[in-house]
Amino acid sequence: MLDADFFRRWMTATATSVAREAERLTDLDSPIGDADHGANLQRGFTAVAATLEKEAPDTPGAVLTLTGRQLISTVGGASGPLYGTLLRRTGKALGDAAEVSEEEFAGALRTGVDAVMTLGGAAPGDKTMIDALVPAVDALPEGFAAARAAAEAGAVATTPLQARKGRASYLGERSIGHQDPGATSSALLIAALQEAAEA
Ligand code: ADP
Ligand code: MG
Ligand code: MG
Repeated sequence: MLDADFFRRWMTATATSVAREAERLTDLDSPIGDADHGANLQRGFTAVAATLEKEAPDTPGAVLTLTGRQLISTVGGASGPLYGTLLRRTGKALGDAAEVSEEEFAGALRTGVDAVMTLGGAAPGDKTMIDALVPAVDALPEGFAAARAAAEAGAVATTPLQARKGRASYLGERSIGHQDPGATSSALLIAALQEAAEA
């Protein structure tokens, strides 16, 4: 079973890896974006880590809904509302249980990813964070390691794609040949699940 502590560890592990990889995320956002993705997410997850420590929400759902609200208010850019929606909707789907099973979490995360697709209008293959998140939720029933591998493969697989959503889509064919920054940060988010489970 996964408790509120697990979800706090998930978010703090994400904050750590986003901080470690911020420069790389911003570099990826430079040829096909506006070179702010690492800075945007670092600002957001730093605020999330501080808020979770201060407010110490005591259910999985409360940890994720608080995180989502914080990301929406601090990240800015396209990715703020999208990541905020992902975590807020996943948290809402978990309800107010003190602990959730891995199966319940997998179902809730799918609800969250579906909400991101509804909000942003992106489908798999559009060269966005969805290309890491959908394979991750598909693999999640096999465990966190499988989800991580699927997300990382999904992020790498965005390189040959032409962007159809977000800023990168303005470049048309010139978006081909670059890995999507949001898919790369989504792979960090999913990888942090395994880190939280092993901590
Ligand atoms: P901005 O482009 O506003 O500067 P960021 O740089 O923080 O925002 O985030 C860019 C990332 O957001 C992209 O790499 C992509 O993965 C994701 N993204 C942009 N638009 C969409 C969308 N409509 N649906 C899903 N993801 C999107
Ligand atoms: Mg950007
Ligand atoms: Mg921007």
